[in-house]
Amino acid sequence: MSSAATKLANAADATSAEAQTLVLDMRKALTSMKSLAVEYERAGKPDKVKQLEDAVQELVASYEDCAYLAEAVKKVPGAYQPSDQATDFRKLIDAEVDKVKGTSRSSGHKDQLIRQFKEAVWDVHHAGQPMPGDEQEELVMTSTQNSILNMHCPLTLKPIIELENPVRCMDCRHIYDKDPIMSHIRRSKAPNCPVAGCPAVLQVARIFCDTFLRMEIEELRSSRPSAPNATEVEDISDQGEDEAEDLMDDDEDE
Ligand SMILES: [Zn+2]
Repeated sequence: MSSAATKLANAADATSAEAQTLVLDMRKALTSMKSLAVEYERAGKPDKVKQLEDAVQELVASYEDCAYLAEAVKKVPGAYQPSDQATDFRKLIDAEVDKVKGTSRSSGHKDQLIRQFKEAVWDVHHAGQPMPGDEQEELVMTSTQNSILNMHCPLTLKPIIELENPVRCMDCRHIYDKDPIMSHIRRSKAPNCPVAGCPAVLQVARIFCDTFLRMEIEELRSSRPSAPNATEVEDISDQGEDEAEDLMDDDEDE
């Protein structure tokens, strides 16, 4: 790799990491705004609630753009072609953002966040009653919940919400702890997804942490404060032994 390409790759990583951090901060801000709105609603200040709702709408829009950007920036070094002409990076990034938007499965995320806000406010005076326009709720909830397919890394058995480096296979959508899954792939010519019964064959290039994964995990974490029950662990008995052994002597990088 040329030094320009290396610099570009490093810059893209740093920018993407910053955007991801920003996304998570925005998520926290949204939670605070929701609590505040609930307090205003209780105190009978609907105008304040409305102001907050407008702000939430705006923040959620930036939030999603930022998440797309975090993803797209990572792809720029791959799309970059060295040439004599100056590169129009703006154009390059915009093109990647469009691609990410086109393939994203999390486009319902934005609506869901706004929904959660409205629902929290609604519940102050109407707990247990369906919110007007509720028919779509089931659809929205299902789509997001399904995006996290396994609650534990099939290799380390750690809960997904506790992983420091969660990654997802873009083919079967299963989620793993990064280092163990990468070692698993390196050791085998046709590495299968370690989730029992999953037919996917894994490729390094198809496994990464997209920004939506972090958002979804954050979402999950905030919706269930206590650690999930260990009995939910998937059955990995047919591969578990080899894995555990190999994982022991696998602490090279980092
Ligand atoms: Zn799988």
